[in-house]
Amino acid sequence: MRRLVQYDALAFGSGACALAAAVTLAEGGAKVAVFEKQPTIGGTSVNFRGTFAAESEMQRRKCISYSRDEAFRNIMEYSHWLANPRLVRAIVDESSKTIPWLQERGIVFTDVVTNIPGAPQTYHLVANSGEDVVKALSARAVEKGATIKTSTPVKEIIMEGGSIAGLIVTENGEEARVDARVVVVASGGYANNAEWIKKYTGLDLDVNLFPVGNEGKMGDGIRMAHDIGAASEGIHVIEMLRTGRDRPGTMTEIGFAVVQPDLWVNNRGIRFCDETVTFDDTSMGNASIKQDQGCGYTIFDTSIVRQLAERGIDKAMALDFPPGSRLLNLARELEEAPTTRPDEVYQADSIADLALLMHVDASTLQATVDDYNRYCDQGHDELFAKNPRYLRPIRGPRFYAVKTQTVFLGTMGGIKINEKMEVVDKKNRIVPGLYAGGFDAGGMYGDSYSIKGSTGLSSCFAMNSGRLAGKNALLYLGKKS
Ligand SMILES: Cc1cc2nc3c(=O)[nH]c(=O)nc-3n(C[C@H](O)[C@H](O)[C@H](O)COP(=O)(O)OP(=O)(O)OC[C@H]3O[C@@H](n4cnc5c(N)ncnc54)[C@H](O)[C@@H]3O)c2cc1C
Repeated sequence: MRRLVQYDALAFGSGACALAAAVTLAEGGAKVAVFEKQPTIGGTSVNFRGTFAAESEMQRRKCISYSRDEAFRNIMEYSHWLANPRLVRAIVDESSKTIPWLQERGIVFTDVVTNIPGAPQTYHLVANSGEDVVKALSARAVEKGATIKTSTPVKEIIMEGGSIAGLIVTENGEEARVDARVVVVASGGYANNAEWIKKYTGLDLDVNLFPVGNEGKMGDGIRMAHDIGAASEGIHVIEMLRTGRDRPGTMTEIGFAVVQPDLWVNNRGIRFCDETVTFDDTSMGNASIKQDQGCGYTIFDTSIVRQLAERGIDKAMALDFPPGSRLLNLARELEEAPTTRPDEVYQADSIADLALLMHVDASTLQATVDDYNRYCDQGHDELFAKNPRYLRPIRGPRFYAVKTQTVFLGTMGGIKINEKMEVVDKKNRIVPGLYAGGFDAGGMYGDSYSIKGSTGLSSCFAMNSGRLAGKNALLYLGKKS
């Protein structure tokens, strides 16, 4: 087998985690190579808009008092202490240092906010998107001497004498061996692997759960790490949301209306949650996936369409459409929907006719709407105790039902690591030279993505696990971190 030149350290993947590790290692004097399976770098990381930090300078300047201790406690309590507390502490503590670290490397942050009403402001907004982070970190890695190879999938992790010895990659269709004492596994999880999604979550990919922003994610890094003895942690955790059926990358005002906290029903016409879960993506995703096929409908009427145009939305849509953004095109989109979206947007002049179009039992849907309207009139949701502020009756004259689905942004576990991002085996012994982070590593969460009190934690974990893996790998290599 052909042998490529020898390196000190290799990054497996080229997302935020791998690149943060590569920059840290290269700046510390290590000879580094990054291998990416796809023709372009960045993976899912090109998508994120903001990242978590606690006690950052940006927060201090805005007088946001949310301490690392509070963030740590919130994440641990959210996980019912299933998360690895030392790992959570290490990531939270590093998070505020990572913001200036990124700024010094050319990444511009515009503000620090939250997209959950009443939650601490931890979401540090990147000027455009994670694409800026990928561009700046890859440029910095190359400037410091790193090699980045695209269309070069990793095939195997090599262990010799109980320690990491390098990788086998496929370059130009040919297998090649690359020697190095350090490998950082950051291949971005297994979101596109239907067999694993079924095995680890019980869900059916592209049937009741649809991936967004992930391509070719087959769990390569997780599988290869497991093959050489790494233990498993948190492999079942996924980051889900409930959305309309807009094509990925397009956002219509019908898609905005779907996530507003009006009446949500499942495909039997039965209400299934306090719709204000919409303000907490994780709760919204969990409530949605529990319904048959992970799907359902949002129901509204003419008067709600008018209110959305006049008073605006309650649930923000990304950062470009904050609460109060007015849906001035919604009425027109709904008028055109019978032609443009006949299979997902239904409308009728009575609930009975709407039920017919939705293929749900008319008396069940009528009872759901009647009960809901009663809760609205009395200002008390007897069933799910929704905040009365979000109780708007459904009385027509035109009634709408828009189909919803459960999507997910990535898988969030797999390889067990410790607080130094070192991979450990089933007896908690370190696998010397092997590090993991981002979507490939477990231990940051319990059974769901922690978002309340830690908005932006997913990309934070990717970048901070990458940086910490890099720092600890430098020590392992005998270089100064
Ligand atoms: C639409 C969307 C919006 C998001 N918004 C936010 C947000 O605002 N805030 C937030 O905190 N998080 C957000 N996230 C989550 C965030 O993007 C992830 O946490 C982060 O990108 C994970 O980074 P990573 O480095 O672990 O994986 P990735 O960025 O996916 O990188 C993994 C890379 O490894 C490559 N790879 C896979 N197999 C191999 C192989 N065999 N050989 C070589 N390379 C391989 C992949 O092709 C990929 O390029 C969002 C995600 C999505 C989809």
